[in-house]
Amino acid sequence: MYFCDFCTAPMEKMTDGWTYKAEPFILQAHDDPPLVCVSDAGWLACNSCAALIEAQDAAGLVEKSVKKEVEHFNITDEYMVDAIRSMMNKLHAEFWKGKREEAIT
Ligand SMILES: [Zn+2]
Repeated sequence: MYFCDFCTAPMEKMTDGWTYKAEPFILQAHDDPPLVCVSDAGWLACNSCAALIEAQDAAGLVEKSVKKEVEHFNITDEYMVDAIRSMMNKLHAEFWKGKREEAIT
């Protein structure tokens, strides 16, 4: 089982989604609480996230990721929601910065 790196949607096979090549990074995404994100060379996106990526809808992609995270962990604390949004913005900025042209479908 594989999971979308943006919204955690499950996929049976990697080829059910899109693989984006990007530069690897380690990011201190948030200080309090401390959140560190590590990425190797590729991001797996489900079809609906890939549609946002192909449309260059960076803000839509962040909101989708935040919504999924908030639902998944049942987060009601506004501070934590803001922390997650801030983290996703930084994380996705790394993705857009490091993203190479070709996507593998
Ligand atoms: Zn997704």
